[in-house]
Amino acid sequence: MSKLHNIKNWTRQKLREWMAEKSTTNFKVKEFRADQVFYWLYTQQVGSFSEMNNIGRETRKILEENFWISSLEKAEKQQSQDGSIKYRLLLDDGLSIESVFMPHTSHNTVCVSSQVGCGMGCDFCMTGTMGLVRNLNTAEIIDQVLTVLKDQPEGEKIRNIVFMGMGEPFHNYQNLMQALEILTDEHGFNFSQRRITVSTSGLLPKIRRFGEEKIKANLAISLNGVTDNVRSKLMPVNIPYNLEKLIKVCREFPLESRRRITFEYILIRDLTDSIKDAKGLISLLHGMKFKINLIPFNSVPGSKYLSPSQGQSRKFQKYLLDHGVVAPIRISKGQDIQGACGQLVIGAKA
Ligand code: SAH
Ligand code: SF4
Repeated sequence: MSKLHNIKNWTRQKLREWMAEKSTTNFKVKEFRADQVFYWLYTQQVGSFSEMNNIGRETRKILEENFWISSLEKAEKQQSQDGSIKYRLLLDDGLSIESVFMPHTSHNTVCVSSQVGCGMGCDFCMTGTMGLVRNLNTAEIIDQVLTVLKDQPEGEKIRNIVFMGMGEPFHNYQNLMQALEILTDEHGFNFSQRRITVSTSGLLPKIRRFGEEKIKANLAISLNGVTDNVRSKLMPVNIPYNLEKLIKVCREFPLESRRRITFEYILIRDLTDSIKDAKGLISLLHGMKFKINLIPFNSVPGSKYLSPSQGQSRKFQKYLLDHGVVAPIRISKGQDIQGACGQLVIGAKA
């Protein structure tokens, strides 16, 4: 198998070029076959080349000699009381990752991982305690969406894809961008760019680069603190890329019309949940096109931080509202199955 390429790591463009090259031999592989292959892989989600029945036998043979089609095995599936489903998916090398399906009448969402573990070391985050085990390849990112979709009752659609599972997506930039290119490809999954959100802890050079990409997915920033003091304690990334620099890059970020940057802000008792913090948040983001999601800290076993009281979360939210900022409190889905944000932690060899 090792000599073969996993076809889901290849963009349609790359496949077209490869096919054009193949055509110089005694048999002509036509470039548009790449479009058909994409249709079969991502619209029909077939698992073998033999099922691609509008592609000639010769071409299918060439494909089989050079490629294989991956899929992810569902190792575990846990359903939460709130309806969300956490999957543990097995990778080829025995490691596993987690993806979460979050149902909603109008906008089912899949939360995907970009790495096994994460190297950013945020102090409040369970995934962070694993360290970085490895990057996911493009196919492993795409296969999460396909596996979760396939497991839903027929007719269920996925409206949003959020990169808020395990890992720092901008630490795995190239594979992430290829995955976005394939997921949004009109000949394949044809997912809307507006419905994909990539969340970063704040890797500034990559945020800038992301703004220049042809693919315009949404940007979310895990802010979590409004002073360098607090933010650096929570998120080591704030040491090289402090708040002043982060906010400057966000202000300069090119936004399509009617788009905003999402800021995720964790409310931690007595650390980030005071009215002074709410005030700080408003002045930090003043004048920007933004949305804020308030996330009450999920208590995790052994964590040194505490969840805020409901009353304090409401007060914080009300202060923002009184100053013209609507900020929903996102009660993380799947808390009872440890499937909520920042609670994804696994990855040891099975
Ligand atoms: N690594 C990226 C994306 C994944 S983290 C990032 O940090 O943006 C997804 C979100 O979960 C982040 O906004 C993070 O701040 C939040 N999070 C992590 N641990 C949490 C916890 N224990 N309680 C609540 N939110 C948490
Ligand atoms: Fe990594 Fe995001 Fe967790 Fe920080 S919050 S350790 S960047 S997954």
